[in-house]
Amino acid sequence: MGIPLRQQIKVGAYILRQHLAGRKRYPLVLMLEPLFKCNLACAGCGKIDYPDPILNRRLSVEECLQAVDECGAPVVAIAGGEPLLHKEMPEIVEKILARGKIIILCTNALLLEKRLEQYKPHPRFTWDIHLDGDREQHDWAVSQKGVYDRAVKALKLAKEKGFRVAINATLFNNAEPERMARFFDDVTAMGVDAIMVSPGYAYERAPDQQHFLNRRKTKELFRGIFARGQGKGWKMGNSPLFLDFLAGNQSYHCTPWGNPTRNVFGWQRPCYLLGEGYAKTYRELMDTTDWDKYGTGNYEKCADCMVHSGFEATAVVDAVKRPWKALAVQMRGPRTDGEMAPEIDLTRQRPAEYVFSRHVQKAMDEMAHEPPKSAKRGAKHGGSGESPAVAAE
Ligand code: SF4
Repeated sequence: MGIPLRQQIKVGAYILRQHLAGRKRYPLVLMLEPLFKCNLACAGCGKIDYPDPILNRRLSVEECLQAVDECGAPVVAIAGGEPLLHKEMPEIVEKILARGKIIILCTNALLLEKRLEQYKPHPRFTWDIHLDGDREQHDWAVSQKGVYDRAVKALKLAKEKGFRVAINATLFNNAEPERMARFFDDVTAMGVDAIMVSPGYAYERAPDQQHFLNRRKTKELFRGIFARGQGKGWKMGNSPLFLDFLAGNQSYHCTPWGNPTRNVFGWQRPCYLLGEGYAKTYRELMDTTDWDKYGTGNYEKCADCMVHSGFEATAVVDAVKRPWKALAVQMRGPRTDGEMAPEIDLTRQRPAEYVFSRHVQKAMDEMAHEPPKSAKRGAKHGGSGESPAVAAE
């Protein structure tokens, strides 16, 4: 398994504390998106087609740390956009680590070679390199040739320098089990510490809407991949029960509050994938979001979702409550044949609402009325205004 024992214990103890305190909803992974700007333009991405004033914004060091403190999750996944475009990222990482958190820094790795010396290996710090498959598959997914080779070169360098390195692969409906299995063999041979997988989510703003998976196809695809992985020594970075869910053996409902998202708009409702409104504080997000309106079976936009940021927290909490079940899956791997667990009934889901453009316009209006950031704070970490802190590529 690709999750270090110490991190499993840390997260497990945190979950037990939440249960003993009687908390019904609590965060596990803070999804921190300090900027939306990216140096790629992947067809399946729902984040990078914002207007320039939004792409040029970033969260300051203080705003990132405030989000970490407000939310209290034991794990912080830094995503974006491309986090390595944020000039203050080394300071953000260092200060979050100093708070005892586990960090997963998601990157397309195009800047990794250049930036590597600004970071130090740490047992709680993992580079999570975006690789959606072999050379042809990944370069197709990111809509640019040569990216796979650069990412792999950076991955090997990071390993040489003693960093913990994972890859994260988002799978689309043209993924082939045999080919994905070969790719997992390849990255295993490269020495990656963890392989994280997730099916792609059909962002309504993603330019390519043709290649997203539905739930049945997702389960068949993952069964096909996992069946080929027996005894291969793949170190999977997802929890065993989440992998079992992907293989169609668990009827989980999502836990969107498990991975709350803080980005340049605020705290995103209800989850990392849907932007249906923003709260100013974490508390406001938790207290004023109507959680029952979301999730598969409740909302049309959630119908096909099986994404890690919605369901990994469900699986992890299940594992802490029923450790023997998780252990059994960990020992034998996810079941790859036989009946699948019952699917969630979609007949009563409410129709999709298309509110996204309204939120973008609101954010643009608010930005237009903001005082210049140097007037609000010191020049160094001055909030999320126009971006001197977006680093050169
Ligand atoms: S199913 Fe859950 S995680 Fe997925 S989009 Fe809906 S609310 Fe978000």
